[in-house]
Amino acid sequence: VSKRLSGISFRLAKVGVALAFVLGLSMSLIQLYLDYIAQSDNLDIVLTSVAEVIEPPASRAVHTLDDDLSLEVVNSLLAYDFVYNVAIKDELGNTLASGSKPRQESATGWLTNLLQADNKRIYTADLSIPDYGRGAVGQVIFHVDVDMALASFYDRSVLVLISGVLRNCLLVILLFFAFYRLLAKPLLQMSNEIIEIQPNHPGEKRLTVINSESPDELTGLSMAVNSLMDSVEHTLSRRMEAEESARESEELIRRVFNEMPSMIAVRDLEGVISYSNPNFDAFCGLQEGEAIGQNMFGADFDFFFNKQQDLKQRLKENGLQEQPGTIEFDGYFHNSAGETLYLQCHSTPIVMSGESYILMVLNDISDRRQVEEKMEYMAYHDTLTGLPNRPHLVERLENEIMRSRRHHYYGAVLFIDLDHFKNINDSLGHSVGDELLRQVARRLRSVVREEDVVSRLSGDEFVVVLTILDDDFDTACLKAGEVAEKIRQTICDPYPHEDIRLHISCSIGVKIYEEDRTSADELLRFADTAMYQVKSRGRNAVEFFNVEMSEKVSKQLLLEAELHKAYENSEFILYFQPKYFARTRKIKGAEALIRWQHPERGMVSPGEFIPQLESSGLMFDVGYWIIQEGCRTAKSMQVLGLWQQGMRMSINISPRQLLDVNFTDGVKRILAEEAIDGGVLDFEVTESVAIDNIENSIETMNKLIELNISFSLDDFGTGYSSISYLKRLPVENLKIDYSFVRDIEEDYNDRALVKMIVAMGHMLDLNVVAEGVETDGQMAILDNFGCHYYQGYLLSRPIPKTDFKDLLQAQFDNS
Ligand code: C2E
Ligand code: MG
Ligand code: MG
Repeated sequence: VSKRLSGISFRLAKVGVALAFVLGLSMSLIQLYLDYIAQSDNLDIVLTSVAEVIEPPASRAVHTLDDDLSLEVVNSLLAYDFVYNVAIKDELGNTLASGSKPRQESATGWLTNLLQADNKRIYTADLSIPDYGRGAVGQVIFHVDVDMALASFYDRSVLVLISGVLRNCLLVILLFFAFYRLLAKPLLQMSNEIIEIQPNHPGEKRLTVINSESPDELTGLSMAVNSLMDSVEHTLSRRMEAEESARESEELIRRVFNEMPSMIAVRDLEGVISYSNPNFDAFCGLQEGEAIGQNMFGADFDFFFNKQQDLKQRLKENGLQEQPGTIEFDGYFHNSAGETLYLQCHSTPIVMSGESYILMVLNDISDRRQVEEKMEYMAYHDTLTGLPNRPHLVERLENEIMRSRRHHYYGAVLFIDLDHFKNINDSLGHSVGDELLRQVARRLRSVVREEDVVSRLSGDEFVVVLTILDDDFDTACLKAGEVAEKIRQTICDPYPHEDIRLHISCSIGVKIYEEDRTSADELLRFADTAMYQVKSRGRNAVEFFNVEMSEKVSKQLLLEAELHKAYENSEFILYFQPKYFARTRKIKGAEALIRWQHPERGMVSPGEFIPQLESSGLMFDVGYWIIQEGCRTAKSMQVLGLWQQGMRMSINISPRQLLDVNFTDGVKRILAEEAIDGGVLDFEVTESVAIDNIENSIETMNKLIELNISFSLDDFGTGYSSISYLKRLPVENLKIDYSFVRDIEEDYNDRALVKMIVAMGHMLDLNVVAEGVETDGQMAILDNFGCHYYQGYLLSRPIPKTDFKDLLQAQFDNS
């Protein structure tokens, strides 16, 4: 009820009543006032007509001085209830007759007084006699009670007023009900229905559509509310879906983080951890979730930083101005249990809901690190003996040279080569040879000081660097000689093997170094030269690098100069050794082999000058010339119709060439110049070069393969021969080194090796070329193994171009 009484319709009714009352009243008052003015005008007319009625008898009475008649007139006037005093007077003013009656008390007197200022009116009518011509003969004077005259008007007015107010009120009440029914009630219903709607489930309820049969504004409103609710529900459900999927993805991320093998933690800029995954907790020796709220830089985490205060500081500053970006570091760290792990760590500033945090990700890469270290070790160490290898030696030696130069003392490089070691390998097998090399390595290590370097270069070659011998040259030489001699004797001690004792000797070349500006490579070359001197003089001795030897070195320099001249004078020519297809014994290509037609020494074989070509850098120019000449030869045979589809000209590519970044472009240029397709070429590269620089090699090789050039691995079997490497190299052919073919008939090991290489070739879908085939016996064995191609003196020696053409011509004629 109170709701209804305070509702709009009630308020409207209240206002309506007040307005109706005031308006009705004031309108009625105005109307009454106008009525009243008309009424009072009307009174004058009435009075005039009354006077007119009484005038004839009154005039007669005055004229005749008839008192009775006068009295009659007076009384007739007094009969009017509003006339209360009448007097008839003659022309002299004597009263002929008069009369009065008491004035009645009236409730409306005050109002008449207010309106008229006076409640009475005195009316005088002059009396005259027609045809008498004398003017007035007397007067009738009567007093009118105005209030009384207006009494009926007043009565009417009250009625009008009351009925007006009543009508208005009735109207308002009716309006109130109509308004209530049509507007307030539906609104109330609507609001009640709206109240019942549950905000969480806006879809369950809708408003009853009001007046749906004759739509009006309320229908519109209720429908609008419904459609608003539809869209609210739609948006809400979409929001809820979005929230749901956000929750799901958050959950997913959390699960992923929890499952991840990494250790993950999120901390704020102060270091307080707000999230950590189980791995992180375990790493810290905490129960799951225990890390949350702890400070990373607190004492509980000291096990991690383990006195690495600068790292701690750096991490503390991460996310601040000093270290705004990601910090990456790796190294050995302890976990809370004190175990050492190799961790790779990222500390990355992130922003979550407007706040800055640091995401810490720690990966335990101990295993990988181990492999890496092992690989690093292997890259720098000889696997057989565990000694530093050549790259390692060169690096150490360079440091030592610099150190000796700075501190002015002498050191020595000892080049040690075992004498006739091959005999042991050949007679007792490789495993015995390997064991012997290991023992030699141990003995070498044992006779020199800790700070000296012992390394194995290759095969049976060892190098010892004696660091810090003395600051006096002679003393240094003496000491170096003593150590070298001791080494020689130690190596000469017999090696027990099964029931026998093996004996081996060695040749040692020594080069003292100090302030001279020699490089490590040069030092090694000098010591090597000295060692060769020992070999040429009968082995098993120590020799110092000396003047004659330096003459030998300068001879090499001379050779280099000669080679330059030879190139300019076109003294190089190519020989061609045909390559035969095993099944048909037909020529399927040739290998181009360089020769030097020396004006005095005659034909010089490549073994004698290729190393000098390499070291002098002339190999690039000569190398391009060889390719060009090879192309020209193939082209000339093509022109004659002797070079059949599928034949290839094999060119030996030196390590330097293959690793030269411009090589591919150079080859492209030659192919363009000679107008020939790369499909006629096959490049022979040695296994060790390709594998030492495997990434670069593969890249270069692939570029050349795009030109249709194929690749062969030359001297196969002398190097690594790891299948995994082989599989990566894009080669088509394996060339078994002729040293294996040579002994294939006698040496069981070589035979097994060749058999394995051929089998591997089959397995990897590679052609196997046997080079150095000299006897029918060898070829029979190779045939048996399933070798694809042969090359060797048995079928043809390397021959000049014209002879090669004749051979092809003969084959062509025969077919
Ligand atoms: P390689 O590439 O392994 O070439 C095969 C070598 O074996 C050649 O020696 C060839 O004459 C020789 N040979 C062929 N058949 C027989 C045989 O039945 N018995 C014996 N004992 N040997 C045989 P060559 O021509 O003296 O070349 C020696 C090495 O010099 C080559 O080995 C190659 O590494 C290098 N070489 C030769 N010509 C070139 C060249 O044009 N460029 C480069 N970079 N290196 C070359
Ligand atoms: Mg070759
Ligand atoms: Mg070869």
